[in-house]
Amino acid sequence: MKQDLWNPALDRLVAYQVPDSSGLIKLDAMENPFPLPAAVAQAFAAEPPISNRYPDASASALKTALEQVYPAPDGFGCVLGNGSDELIALLLQAVMRPGATVLAAEPCFVMYRHLAGILGLRFVGVPLQADFSLDMPAMLAAIEEHQPSLVFIASPNNPTGNLFPEAELKQLATACPGLFVLDEAYIPYAATSGGEFAAQHPNVVLLRTLSKWGLAGLRLGFVQARAEVCAQLEKLRMPYNINSLSQSLGRLCLQQGAEFAAQIEILVAERARLEAGLAAPGVRIYPSAANFLLLRVPDAPRTHAALKAEGVLVKILHGAHPLLQHCLRISLGTPEENTRLLAVWPGVL
Ligand code: PMP
Repeated sequence: MKQDLWNPALDRLVAYQVPDSSGLIKLDAMENPFPLPAAVAQAFAAEPPISNRYPDASASALKTALEQVYPAPDGFGCVLGNGSDELIALLLQAVMRPGATVLAAEPCFVMYRHLAGILGLRFVGVPLQADFSLDMPAMLAAIEEHQPSLVFIASPNNPTGNLFPEAELKQLATACPGLFVLDEAYIPYAATSGGEFAAQHPNVVLLRTLSKWGLAGLRLGFVQARAEVCAQLEKLRMPYNINSLSQSLGRLCLQQGAEFAAQIEILVAERARLEAGLAAPGVRIYPSAANFLLLRVPDAPRTHAALKAEGVLVKILHGAHPLLQHCLRISLGTPEENTRLLAVWPGVL
């Protein structure tokens, strides 16, 4: 084979690892742990079967349903992705020019750096403070120095779980010379929305997903941004990236939004129960506005392995970033799963 065949970025990358969760209580990936509401399953059974035709390339019925649950500011359009991670890739492709820089506050969702690396974009990670708040002077200085084409901020942030103050987000969006992507994957658990703030800033791109809301298996993400930004992303989007099954099931689920809101209400109450129940000497639990908790334990590899031996899979973050030493990220499970976690907890520390 040709010697200089591969994209040189591949030498520095490792494939995203998804551990086998068979037979385990799955608390590692921030999914909604509840099954599809019965009302949705019934409505879906009555839908026309998937046809021989390609899907609706504009997914117009799905978009209408989305806009009812997630209203966007006036003048904003919507671009759909096969998961919001596809949209992260499209946003990066849209600004791909020689010398272009992407900036994010780290630790953050690993795909920002990973996908920027694949595309050969320069990535600048500005560390969060020790309590995971934004280091505003450092962020503003880095924006000034690097003039990034794209800034990613997730609020609530993954893996830290905290929501960043709106005043800080506004300040960053104002300072940012390019697109400011506000990733709101976990917003259903945070009782707030960035929609209004986006209206006053033409460069703000809202990135959202149905994955944490309740449909991780469907792979439906969406961008809400000014029409001019959407028009650029549409040039990069594959015409049939949202298959017919996802379009119809997604639409039905959004029409039954109250069923999902009820599940989320239970999970938010579970978050408080877990926060109280997991408290123990030597354990630090960070405040979370998302559907997971970040914890620092005395020995994360030991606790991670002991939980697995007890049939509970959580995410170990030790080694992923200097600020995440001995950290675990535990997604909220059903009340029964959380009760099981609490029962084994004292024995795994
Ligand atoms: N943004 C953030 C902050 C995430 O944590 C994740 C998934 N863990 C995503 C985006 C991607 O979600 P999806 O592709 O399922 O929409």
